[in-house]
Amino acid sequence: MTELIYYKDPYVKEFEAKVVKSLPGAVVLDRTAFYPESGGQPSDVGRIVWEGGEAKVKFVRFEGDEVVHEIEGEAPPEGTLVRGVVDWERRYKLMRSHTLAHLLMAAVRELFDEKVPVVGSGLGPEESRMDFKAKIRKEDLAKIEEIIKKWVEEDRPVRIRLFEDPEEARKLLEGYGKQGGELTEEHLAKRPIRIIEIVGINADPCGGTHLKSTGEVGSFKLVKRESKGRGITRIRFKVL
Ligand SMILES: [Zn+2]
Repeated sequence: MTELIYYKDPYVKEFEAKVVKSLPGAVVLDRTAFYPESGGQPSDVGRIVWEGGEAKVKFVRFEGDEVVHEIEGEAPPEGTLVRGVVDWERRYKLMRSHTLAHLLMAAVRELFDEKVPVVGSGLGPEESRMDFKAKIRKEDLAKIEEIIKKWVEEDRPVRIRLFEDPEEARKLLEGYGKQGGELTEEHLAKRPIRIIEIVGINADPCGGTHLKSTGEVGSFKLVKRESKGRGITRIRFKVL
């Protein structure tokens, strides 16, 4: 099982670790700050460095409860101590985009005053998207943007909440009413259950990397809306 450093501290950019599995063109480490592709957030990239060697990390993925780092070139042997360096510029944009995505979901629910379902999402360092089961008109976009801007200016704290007891997790989510996310079977199968709480705004089960507070989202833009049919609207957005 790989220790996920980013789970508790998403601001770790460099870390020391040991190679526990050396595979053709890939390594498993005992701990990692690299984010493995999941939940609509793309994999981190970067590099690992060790005595006498260095390799680019191209892609990172879960395999069961282990994290596999696909690298360029030959993998260092088992037992090697390495330093991992996350491509921070890219990751930080993804963190800003991910917290912005949670604010976007909350703003849509605030505007419509109901728990509008999110039916898909994809984050990217340059542009992201979120699909809502709702008719969102062009003129709604400006209103949604205003709500988010206000929350960014208020610089609300973003907390990583970890729960061993699903009942406590459920209580936190229910306390947020229409702004509380749902626990799926997948969430319930894991311990701890991880919930991202944007204090006073919303709480949502999420394994992704988030900012410490909403002020760090900074400048952003809701690029456009697209009707995807069947009552689904896609909103494209980006951090600037
Ligand atoms: Zn999330």
